[in-house]
Amino acid sequence: MATKAKTPAKKTKKAAPKSKASSKKAAAAAGDSAFRNYTPYEPKKSEIYMNDQQLVHFKQILMNWRQELMEEVDRTVHHMQDEAANFPDPADRATQEEEFSIELRTRDRERKLIKKIDQTMERVDQEDYGYCDTCGIEIGLRRLEARPTATQCVDCKSLDEIKEKQIRG
Ligand SMILES: [Zn+2]
Repeated sequence: MATKAKTPAKKTKKAAPKSKASSKKAAAAAGDSAFRNYTPYEPKKSEIYMNDQQLVHFKQILMNWRQELMEEVDRTVHHMQDEAANFPDPADRATQEEEFSIELRTRDRERKLIKKIDQTMERVDQEDYGYCDTCGIEIGLRRLEARPTATQCVDCKSLDEIKEKQIRG
């Protein structure tokens, strides 16, 4: 059974805001930035592509990445809850609303990315990972490490991007 995404906790009256929340911009360089925190896999000479060890390696990368994103989403939510209604000044509020809408978009991107990671992990589990969806060749360890959710080889991907640009005009 798929567990529904956590429903937001009941709105509790915000206790006295601690000082003036330092408007430190959440340096969320999130979004498309791929996960960088891994040790590159060094296959032995005759190692078979996407053997169990390699699958475990990528599963680990995906899980860590997912974890990181979840924490990022949590931070965003808390940040917004903490900051909400702290600015009586309309000008401040406008700035705050803009900030919120940026954060909401970021969160939305992160959610989508998490979903994609989930789908990718399922493919790893089914040992249907690491091959191009379009032409079937090996995507390659290095490319997958740089972009663990990749479903296409570099060539097919760039071809698609060119086509997409042409469609958009
Ligand atoms: Zn391909």
